[in-house]
Amino acid sequence: MYVFVKERVESRSFIPEEKIFELLEKTKNPDPARVREIIQKSLDKNRLEPEETATLLNVEDPELLEEIFEAARTLKERIYGNRIVLFAPLYIGNDCINDCVYCGFRVSNKVVERRTLTEEQLKEEVKALVSQGHKRLIVVYGEHPNYSPEFIARTIDIVYNTKYGNGEIRRVNVNAAPQTIEGYKIIKSVGIGTFQIFQETYHRETYLKLHPRGPKSNYNWRLYGLDRAMMAGIDDVGIGALFGLYDWKFEVMGLLYHTIHLEERFGVGPHTISFPRIKPAINTPYSQKPEHVVSDEDFKKLVAIIRLSVPYTGMILTAREPAKLRDEVIKLGVSQIDAGSRIGIGAYSHKEDDEDRKRQFTLEDPRPLDQVMRSLLKEGFVPSFCTACYRAGRTGEHFMEFAIPGFVKNFCTPNALFTLQEYLCDYATEETRKVGEEVIERELQKMNPKIRERVREGLEKIKRGERDVRF
Ligand code: SAM
Ligand code: SF4
Repeated sequence: MYVFVKERVESRSFIPEEKIFELLEKTKNPDPARVREIIQKSLDKNRLEPEETATLLNVEDPELLEEIFEAARTLKERIYGNRIVLFAPLYIGNDCINDCVYCGFRVSNKVVERRTLTEEQLKEEVKALVSQGHKRLIVVYGEHPNYSPEFIARTIDIVYNTKYGNGEIRRVNVNAAPQTIEGYKIIKSVGIGTFQIFQETYHRETYLKLHPRGPKSNYNWRLYGLDRAMMAGIDDVGIGALFGLYDWKFEVMGLLYHTIHLEERFGVGPHTISFPRIKPAINTPYSQKPEHVVSDEDFKKLVAIIRLSVPYTGMILTAREPAKLRDEVIKLGVSQIDAGSRIGIGAYSHKEDDEDRKRQFTLEDPRPLDQVMRSLLKEGFVPSFCTACYRAGRTGEHFMEFAIPGFVKNFCTPNALFTLQEYLCDYATEETRKVGEEVIERELQKMNPKIRERVREGLEKIKRGERDVRF
């Protein structure tokens, strides 16, 4: 009975649609002084209220907009520094009983080739990822009875236990269908990082239209999916919206209300926010021509406004976006990106599997990991594969970076440098190694002498062959 009560589908929603429309209407043509006040509130490390985010969303004046971009860059630099965490997506299987009109894996798509990795194939994929230098993955599944919580847990367990050369995967995040509390507990038991569920669109009527069949057609089951994850003891949850399905300003407000809901109910907001834009998928007309296309300019604006609205959260930008745009958007507050990604099932170990008919959609940044690393290094970033918090059993790493003075400087940066050094020793091309060594030296020079000395010792250990060194 207890379980039943906890898992009944909630009849209420915490997305107040009328109120969102009202706020977006009421805050049109905002007063510049009010906009600057809101920007300052965010720079002072406060999460914004819906009326404040709506005001920023209504800024059209180019000069004021530039102030928003500048504030997003400042906030990122001031709080999180110049590290960028790298990960890769690993698609485990594309069977799916839902019919999301924008997705290549939808059940009615007869052109897509259905496949689920066998245990052997999964190991091959992990080895291919480890041999690129990856340490952090997000495992991705369609929604299908075959992908039970036990199956998901088993596949994650295999990922963790597949060593290759000097490396292994140290943190596995999950993007899968919403589970029951019991299901989440089974998945949590193998040690996961973040559980991500994207609401796709927070606008109920649009949601119902675009998810006509299958369990995903239940808006509230999905909306409360991460509540159940939290109830099962998964502390790090990731929210997101798929931009292109409905008005982007409404979706940003939806993400904010979701954040506030999690804060109020569990005392902690989302660990990460994702903001994918729809990309073309094979035999999927909706994906070729989404109803609410978001321009690059609006995309930058929404990223900056999410950064300012929820200063404490991690933000994920994927290889769905082209390299040039990614370089620009990263500066607006992004903390994690994927690189060297392949989303065809089995495509890391068999490049020929990276074909449209095996993929959910198309990626626009196909650069290999080493090239992305080099580009980040040249842009002044410190690419990081750090999993120190996760390995020490600490959750909410992004929140700690935000909330604890000195945490980034004294803890994250040293650990980021250790993982960068590992990458340079084991996987980098000559050119990347050279730039990487220069960046490490530059970062060392910024440290106070005591910390610098300890970091140098750690770096030397890595050069001598020790791995998984942590600060
Ligand atoms: N099947 C599970 C689900 O839908 O929650 C989890 C994995 S699904 C493969 C991951 C995400 O891909 C979806 O939540 C959706 O936002 C995104 N997606 C689906 N179709 C897409 C497309 N055509 N372009 C970009 N992203 C897409
Ligand atoms: Fe299935 Fe997820 Fe694609 Fe929807 S988005 S069709 S649930 S894989």
